[in-house]
Amino acid sequence: MEALNKKTIEDIEVQGKKVLVRCDFNVPLKDGEITNDKRIVAALPTIKYLIENGAKVILCSHLGRPKGEYKPEFSLAPVAKKLSEYLGKEVKLAEDPEVVGENAKKIASELENGDVMLLENVRYRAEETKNVETFSKELASLAEIFVNDAFGTAHRAHCSTTGVADYLPAVCGYLIQKEIKFMGGALANPKRPLVAILGGAKVSDKIGVISNLIDKCDTIIIGGGMAYTFMKFLGHSIGDSLLEADWVEKAGEMMADAKAKGVNFLIPVDNKVGKEYDENTEAKIVNSDEIPDGWMGLDIGPKSMELFVDAIKGAGTVIWNGPMGVSEWENFAAGTIAVANAVAESGAVSIIGGGDSVAAVTKLGFADKMSHISTGGGASLEFLEGKELPGIAALMDKD
Ligand code: AMP
Repeated sequence: MEALNKKTIEDIEVQGKKVLVRCDFNVPLKDGEITNDKRIVAALPTIKYLIENGAKVILCSHLGRPKGEYKPEFSLAPVAKKLSEYLGKEVKLAEDPEVVGENAKKIASELENGDVMLLENVRYRAEETKNVETFSKELASLAEIFVNDAFGTAHRAHCSTTGVADYLPAVCGYLIQKEIKFMGGALANPKRPLVAILGGAKVSDKIGVISNLIDKCDTIIIGGGMAYTFMKFLGHSIGDSLLEADWVEKAGEMMADAKAKGVNFLIPVDNKVGKEYDENTEAKIVNSDEIPDGWMGLDIGPKSMELFVDAIKGAGTVIWNGPMGVSEWENFAAGTIAVANAVAESGAVSIIGGGDSVAAVTKLGFADKMSHISTGGGASLEFLEGKELPGIAALMDKD
């Protein structure tokens, strides 16, 4: 599914209807305060549309992993407060350990057109992540229409993402539309050359993405800890760098596949290596075929940065997921910063996913220069793997 052929909130009459909206309000909390509210902000367009069009809005989400039990520290109360501020009207939290208990039902039944309420954490219920029909039916019983706008959990088949769609007319919200428009567009009909930059710790996490992208990209750039598994295949000594020994052969197969398909497949030619896995460890720059025993690659080196930046400069579309090194540490962030800079300056359609690459782009103040920053880590990876996301598949097709 590379373009969205699903009905949206604009394809259904919502006036006066009770509309259950699955959002992704899984925000980071510290001492009960939200430390980053970008997921709440991303949900606002759909909620505002529903308010303006006279719906009775019932929001729901998970938050963290309460593992099927009522645990007050996972309450969505801070989200209700933040939403009330953003919307300029009270968003009533249905405090209800059962999620859909007497309190939630009462508040839902009293909603006026344009009112908004928020159910408690759907993962208070053990059925949620098992997609058990009892809880799906309870959720559905509150409403007349279901809207899925939780892109971040669209790769999960849970009661509140797919199960409920069996019992209500189900459409998608603006956030899911936006995610699919950018990511689907980049895969189906990209402005070329299409350059994918993949980094982060593990090859095994991104193997599906690389395999799928080899058929679509003009250039694939590999950085981060996963690059050393590719270097190992080439026969380089990689010292104590990250290695997934079980994936060395597969890494070689992917490089061969890329070559056969005429894809430019770039891995680092030099590295910043450290003595220990420590932010302030002694460090030096070495070529990729010269990593000494007892040292580990923690970032790409300056020649690799130049190579990668050159490839990014001419791109029509860039898809980037994962840092080039241990970018949380200032001493090993240069590669990720160079890539972020190059993507921002490239003028390419740019789609960024994955916590660390998004953090780098945001920290450098480049977020506004990117075409699209995905709100879903796992979901965007599965989408890039070419998989169908159950939370989207469950929605009604366009006529
Ligand atoms: P991922 O979640 O797969 O995108 O990986 C992100 C993590 O990869 C970050 O925590 C980085 O610190 C880590 N990482 C990136 N490059 C390296 C490297 N060369 N060695 C060890 N860890 C790395």
